[in-house]
Amino acid sequence: MLEKLKSAALNAQKNAYAPYSKFRVGAALEANDGNVYFGCNVENAAYPLGQCAEATAIGTMIAQGASAIKQIVIASPTETFCYPCGGCRQKIAEFAEASTPVVMITPEGNSTETTVGELLPEGFTLTPQD
Ligand SMILES: [Zn+2]
Repeated sequence: MLEKLKSAALNAQKNAYAPYSKFRVGAALEANDGNVYFGCNVENAAYPLGQCAEATAIGTMIAQGASAIKQIVIASPTETFCYPCGGCRQKIAEFAEASTPVVMITPEGNSTETTVGELLPEGFTLTPQD
């Protein structure tokens, strides 16, 4: 599954819409329904409206009816690992456990792994009400 996620993240990265930063990112996650959902960053001329790859993947997961992240892979456009930004750490944590793996990969095939809990210790949570 991890290899499948890496491939999906790298493929999504190719479709990134990043005409301003030129920093193309891909993300792919395994959801609790067993499916892979992926996304890329989507920038906007109004810069703050741009969306990260992780957010795109999470939005797709939710739209398809899955509700939890089992693991997530983030593909950097350079050999420097691209860790989730602060906002995405919160977005990932909403649908993951502290122990959920977060894997960063590079174009040359390097990778490093951490967890949601390590990226966002003492993160803000609420118990969802239905
Ligand atoms: Zn982000």
